[in-house]
Amino acid sequence: MFNPIGKQGQRRLRDSKAVVVGCGALGSRVSQEIVRSGCGYVRLIDRDFVELSNLQRQVLFTEEDVRKNLPKAVAARERLKEINSEIEIEGIVDDLNFATAEKYLSGANVILDGTDNLEVRMLINDYAWKNRIPYIYGAAVSSYGNTMNIIPGKTACLRCLYPTLPPPGEIDTCDTAGVISPVPGVIASVEAAEAIKLLTGNELRKGLLYADLWSGRFESFEVKSSEKCRCCGMEEFEFLTPDKGKKITTLCGRNAVQITRADGEEKINFVELKEKLSRIGRVEGNRFIMKFISEKYEISIFKNGRAIIQGTDDVNKARSLYSRFIGE
Ligand SMILES: [Zn+2]
Repeated sequence: MFNPIGKQGQRRLRDSKAVVVGCGALGSRVSQEIVRSGCGYVRLIDRDFVELSNLQRQVLFTEEDVRKNLPKAVAARERLKEINSEIEIEGIVDDLNFATAEKYLSGANVILDGTDNLEVRMLINDYAWKNRIPYIYGAAVSSYGNTMNIIPGKTACLRCLYPTLPPPGEIDTCDTAGVISPVPGVIASVEAAEAIKLLTGNELRKGLLYADLWSGRFESFEVKSSEKCRCCGMEEFEFLTPDKGKKITTLCGRNAVQITRADGEEKINFVELKEKLSRIGRVEGNRFIMKFISEKYEISIFKNGRAIIQGTDDVNKARSLYSRFIGE
């Protein structure tokens, strides 16, 4: 009944494909909005599993999901299917990086930001620009958030806004500064509204929107594209190349390190590994994820060999724990 969308717009939404990267606070809400609105195909990508502290802001999850150690992409898909069974929803439990970008992002009509780190955003920005896919950037931390529509060939890109990555520890994250739950709500709602406008052929908002819910400040800034921008100006797309695509990442503020195997395809035999590890520690899990809990560390192992090692932010330590418990 809303005129700018109408029946025709609703049909266009039904025929659209959206990719949501990250199923945390932003991703939970933005995916819920577009699924309820009738976007026909939604792909969710998330590398993590649900933890108790997520429930304060990640609206698709419950205590039951925490007890079941469910990956976020799996739990989110289940909940979204209960909300709208007519939508095709794919839940991908994996890391988005230079090696997986093509597989997971190609064919999207829009890419929606639900991630929690700038490096992944830069990868999406490069991929989106190179392949001319609209990318709706969003970020939320503490009491404030930002969002911007990145339309290749028309607007500035994210790299115009952040020409270089700030050194680790310099910018606030949800784990170091916290985030009040309404902030990702507001940013995700703006992202979803822009996606709906885009997919139904309507005019989009321009510039960077900044919102601080504590002070009540809402502001819009113009962002100019630069010829010297390494993404949209020079089209170097360096985040799509192996040197920038790291295999080992410290998970910011979480005292955890993620290790991704180069092959990425090999399926770990959970039965064998469980037998081996239960002799030396506690093992729990389900068919998507296995958790090994020892005295000081908690290691979450995914089917493709990717692991999140909690209890250290030392990359070398994590690497040695991985080879000790999981293998080379
Ligand atoms: Zn740029």
